[in-house]
Formats: sequence, structure tokens, C-alpha cells
Amino acid sequence: SGYVVGLTGGIGSGKTTVANLFHDLGIQSVDADLVARQVVMPGEAALDAIVQHFGADILQHDGQLDRAALRTKIFANEAEKQWLNQLLHPLIRQRMLQQLAACTSDYALLIAPLLLENNLQIYADRVLVVDVPEELQLSRTIQRDQVPAEQVQNILNSQISRPERLRLADDVVLNTVPVFALQPQIQQLHSRYQQFAKEKLA
Ligand code: ATP
Repeated sequence: SGYVVGLTGGIGSGKTTVANLFHDLGIQSVDADLVARQVVMPGEAALDAIVQHFGADILQHDGQLDRAALRTKIFANEAEKQWLNQLLHPLIRQRMLQQLAACTSDYALLIAPLLLENNLQIYADRVLVVDVPEELQLSRTIQRDQVPAEQVQNILNSQISRPERLRLADDVVLNTVPVFALQPQIQQLHSRYQQFAKEKLA
């Protein structure tokens, strides 16, 4: 349709949960993290370039990119990190925009944990933030991933702060209630987005 709602929120805030409620209403989405993985799949030019640059030991035996090995190579190496970003960012952006353009629902969601950190909101007409207090982010993520609190806290600290995220939001879903109780709010946002999309098209 050409109308894009950027959906973001910190780790474990409930982006996937909220996106699924929009999917139930027939709304399609593009997942920025998924696109970032797609551009380095076997057969993609970017993977060949990465192998050329870092050597074949960056591949797993099955030919897939060894993400852990790549992380190690670019860790604490600003030049290598920059090289990789300059390769991947334009490809990710291009593929993301292609997939958004291919969406046929009344509007589309661009799901990105780092929407605001990576300035992807420039591709969205509106920013929807899924918001929960940090304690709940921590407890839900620990429960879901069975990881230590410290690890989740580190990721949380690397993302923009809750007040900053809320400041950049056009709309907010407060995800402190049970999932079923979110439905009326999502339905209301859905109606507004349909209206906005119609107005943009007109
Ligand atoms: P990430 O950025 O880490 O991928 P996310 O923002 O997509 O996370 P979800 O996976 O949707 O977050 O939610 C995190 C966890 O919290 C999941 O286990 C999910 O089932 C649970 N959860 C989400 N919303 C609610 C809710 N309203 N009530 C109870 N549990 C919830």
C-alpha cells in the first residue's frame, strides 16, 4: 500500500507478540533482523564478498555464514566493523524496501528492534513503540531464553533508553497486560492506520 508503520521496542518488550496481533488482522510485515540474515545466505553476493575479505574459515561446514566467527573478527576492530557495515547496510536497506513494496495489506509493519538506533524510522510513516518497564523486559526475556539476567541487562544497556524511545514514538502499546487484553488497543490502532494509509494514497 505504501504506508509503513515501524514497530519497535526493547529486548523482550513484546514486538513479536504485538506483530502477531496485527497479522491476525491481515497485516503483513517485514522483519529487519530477518532481512539482515537473508542478505548473507549462501548464494548471495554479500556472502561471497565476506569470504573474499575474511577468508573461508568464516563459513560453517554447511556453507552458512559462521556468525560467531564473524563477530570475533570484527570485535574491537573498528575498521573491519565499518567495512562490514558499508557492505551490508545498503543491501539490507534495499531488500527491506523491496519487501515492504511487495506487501499488499492496507499498510505494512517494519519490525526492527533497533529501528531508532539504526535510524530506520526514515522508512516508516509512523513509529509504534511496544513499551514495558525494564523489570518486565528482564523477567520475560530470562523466562523465554533461559539466559542469565546479566546478559539481558547488557543488551538492554546497549539499546536506547526507555524515555528516549518513548519520546520518538507516535503511538505506544503498553504491554503490561495479558495478551488477550491488548486486542482492543491493537484493533483501534489498526483502524487508525487504515485511515492514515487511505489518506496518504488519496
Ligand atoms: P526480542 O526483541 O527479544 O526478540 P520481542 O520484543 O519480540 O523480543 P516477544 O518475544 O514478543 O518480545 O515477548 C517476550 C516474551 O514475553 C515472550 O516469551 C512472550 O511470550 C512474552 N510476552 C509478551 N507479551 C506478553 C504479555 N502481554 N503477557 C505475558 N507475556 C508476554
